[in-house]
Amino acid sequence: MCGIVGFTGEHQAAPILLDGLSKLEYRGYDSAGIAVRDGSADTEIIKAKGRLKVLAEKTNDGESVKGTCGIGHTRWATHGEPSENNAHPHASDDGNVVAVHNGIIENYQELKDKLVRKGYTFYSETDTEVAVKLIDYYYKKYEGTPVDAINHALVRIRGSYALAIMFRDYPEEIYVARKDSPMILGVANGESYIGSDVPAILKYTRDVYYIGNQEMARVRKGEITFYNLDGEEIEKELKTVEWDAEAAEKSGYEHFMIKEIHEQPKAVLDTLNSVIKDGMIDLSEVGLSEEEIKEISQIYIVACGSAYHVGVAAQYVMEDLARIPVRVELASEFRYRNPILDPKGLVVIISQSGETADSLAALRESKKQGVKTLGIVNVIGSSIA
Ligand code: GLU
Repeated sequence: MCGIVGFTGEHQAAPILLDGLSKLEYRGYDSAGIAVRDGSADTEIIKAKGRLKVLAEKTNDGESVKGTCGIGHTRWATHGEPSENNAHPHASDDGNVVAVHNGIIENYQELKDKLVRKGYTFYSETDTEVAVKLIDYYYKKYEGTPVDAINHALVRIRGSYALAIMFRDYPEEIYVARKDSPMILGVANGESYIGSDVPAILKYTRDVYYIGNQEMARVRKGEITFYNLDGEEIEKELKTVEWDAEAAEKSGYEHFMIKEIHEQPKAVLDTLNSVIKDGMIDLSEVGLSEEEIKEISQIYIVACGSAYHVGVAAQYVMEDLARIPVRVELASEFRYRNPILDPKGLVVIISQSGETADSLAALRESKKQGVKTLGIVNVIGSSIA
């Protein structure tokens, strides 16, 4: 899962998109691309394999791409090798629909077979191109609005996604949908911003909307409308982001890893601070009373990747301090193995993004079994949060 940005407003979009993508570089990626359109003119798509620098050079830092509406992407390949051809944005055969995508379309092969039968051809190996063409297919079939078309496509898609989509018939508009993959939307001074993570848009606005799971949004200049899966309009509250841009940057360190190592004491303190009352840890706000905590007889830490390794380290500390047995599990195993959970157990889910698909599934499995759960995440408003 990598980065998405979007912009529609009065300013030129390309420099804003490149700047936003540079703020998401810390997530790692193998290629990048932007799609920009000028009024009702056709969308221009520029992509490059490798560092963002290559894309910036190709577009003269965005100066050579004209238009005030656009989307951008840094890709971490899951389907198809890292290449310019597989890089996002992807477009339908006639350029009617152009989109970027984070996540995985699990049933892409089945959907691709269907679209091939309907006469679509495919130029990339990505699951994303299938989603783009499926949306195009429903847009043409039902002759409805973009929201109707996205809706029809989402009902057929299995997997996780954050999508930012442009339609030829709707200049200056971007459509957004998400499931189990993060996305935030911001507005400021009659302009609108899209980002898969806060740092991408923090320079421009602190006023953001968190789009919920399986919801869609129509993003116009300075105006965002939200829809549920039935295509009905829903209300959202504008929230103010409190953290500073520094937090997401390297703050003087040469590498993010070195910075993160040095930040550990502060990170632990910041995390604990959110639950400290009168000098004591108080988890009542997250739904765990003192009595419930005393009853806990077994702790399960469930996570993926480096969060899993954090769990392994935490296991020693927790067992030592609390004298409660701790078991650490990979979320990808946990979710599929029908785990036997102690009814007096506590499942602790750790996920940086708060959207890790396997960890989210493990959380749901634990809740289904009625075991107490606690999430430790870095993104307020994420699904796990
Ligand atoms: N599954 C998509 C691809 O391989 C998106 C990957 C991503 O989230 O960057 O192109």
